Formats: sequence, C-alpha cells, structure tokens
Amino acid sequence: MGIEGFGRNEQATANEKKRLERTGFATGCNAEMLEALPGTTNIRVLPIQKTVEQGGQFFKEIFKHDIFNEYERSRFIAICPAGMELGECAICEKGEELYNSKEEAAIEVADKLKPRRRFIYNVLCYNGPMDKQGQAPEFGKVYVFEAGPQAHRQIVELDQDAAAGWDDITSIEKGVNLVIKRTGEGLGTKYNVTPHGNGRTNVMDALKEGGVDSTKLKLYDLDAVYTPPSAEKLAEVAAKIKVPSASVTPPVAFAPVTAPAPVAPVAPVAHGGYPGAPVTVSQETVAAPVVSQETVAAPLIPAPPVEK
Ligand SMILES: [Zn+2]
Repeated sequence: MGIEGFGRNEQATANEKKRLERTGFATGCNAEMLEALPGTTNIRVLPIQKTVEQGGQFFKEIFKHDIFNEYERSRFIAICPAGMELGECAICEKGEELYNSKEEAAIEVADKLKPRRRFIYNVLCYNGPMDKQGQAPEFGKVYVFEAGPQAHRQIVELDQDAAAGWDDITSIEKGVNLVIKRTGEGLGTKYNVTPHGNGRTNVMDALKEGGVDSTKLKLYDLDAVYTPPSAEKLAEVAAKIKVPSASVTPPVAFAPVTAPAPVAPVAPVAHGGYPGAPVTVSQETVAAPVVSQETVAAPLIPAPPVEK
C-alpha cells in the first residue's frame, strides 16, 4: 500500500488559501507574505543574497491587479504582466478600452482595473498585530513583506539618510529595525516608518537570542515570488468586467438618416459594479520622531487564542 505515515490537512490548506485571499495577496505567490496590519509591526529588512540577480536592490517593485467582482462576489488578485513588462494583460487592455469610451461609468470601472504599485522585501518580523485568524507573525521566519508606495518611500529615504545616521538599514551586522505604524482606514490609511529606538543592531545576535538557527534561514528570490496568471485566465477575468451604468448610448454612426435610428433597449444592469477593492491608498505622512517600541530581541508575543 505504498509508504505510510504521510498525510495532509485539506481543511487547513483550504483555510490558508482563504486567508491569503482575504489578506489581499495574489494567487501565484510562492512566499510566506506579511503586510503591515493596523497597529505596529517591527521588521528588519534583509539585504539581498549575492547569488540573486535583482539589480542589487533589497526590494522589488511589482504591479498587481486587485479586482472585486460584485456580481460574483469574487476577488481576483494577481500580478499584472504588462506592468511587470512580462507580456500583455487583458485586464489592462479592457481598462484602456473603457477609458477610451469616455463614458463616466466606464471610466470609473477602468480606474479600478489599474494595476497597483507595490513593493516587496525579504524581512524578519520581530512582532506585529495578529491577523483575522489570530495568527501573529513569527520571529525567526523569513517573510516577504509587501508595502505600498507610501511606506516604501519612507523605507528608502531612511536607508539613504546618511545625515541622520540611519543609512544602510539592511546590514546584517549593523542595520536598523523598522517600526511600521499603520493608522486610519480606507483612503485615510497612513503608514509611518521610523527606525527602532534600539538603534543599529546585529540580526545574528537577535536570532541567537531568539533561539533561531540562522543557517536555516533562506531568503526568497524576489523576482520569483509572484508568477503572473496565464493569458487565458486574464482574458476570462477581463471578459466578466461589466460597467454598471446603463446610460451608454449605442453608437449610431453611419446609420441611415432617413428614419430615426432605432434605439436599442438597453438591458437594465444590476446596480453596483466594481466597488473599490479595499486596499490601502497612499497618503503622505510626516516622519514622526522616533518612538521606541518593544525591545528588539523580545521573545515572541504568544498569540492568545482568539475566538472568531
Ligand atoms: Zn494588467
């Protein structure tokens, strides 16, 4: 009967998929992802591995579609091959078509089809808020942290701010832990990135203190974190995109002028459409003075069991 002693937890895997979808990470993603949830997240951005091609950057810019289909109550999140210069994208093409219609309702839908700019990094997470499933980030695990332009700009500024003494934040021996504070909601969501009050620290020391075997840590190849969906899948999603308004006048160009062009009855379309996907939108923030948070090598905060 083959090899015994193996199995899998289908339910747990299905739950994980749902969890990933809820947290807004795309399908086709092969990494353990982390984002800054409301509250404070302490991370250390890790340098690149020399073996990994990436232009030597500790981050990678990605473009993601995040489309909520209200009719089907389904959400499609995937990286955009056009934005990533990997190929054509039927969703972007659909968006362009809708823009070109100059119809207000269509343009509104097109706006929501635009890929969003995001940035990913290899990080360690010292602590952070629990997600909806009651899971808190775990120290000693490499995550791919995903941030929007607002937090990204602050991270890069910090990394380049030699005058303030916080440059080279990704150094293993003397880099800087970051405190990412997320406040507000929806369009008012703000991210504030500050260096941790402990100053420069050695990640290896922190790992040792945390009882983590650093030789087991493996960084992700940021170029390979996301796989773009197939052209067929993109076309399928694009085909289902509808404009909620019924005010589109059918084009009657070159119609015979003798009789009034028959006005095609416009089928009523269910009210609704593509409400904005609930993903944060960048706002400006003013760098706040450094606020000390939990100590760097603090043991993991045990996540209390949460009933949902
Ligand atoms: Zn696209």
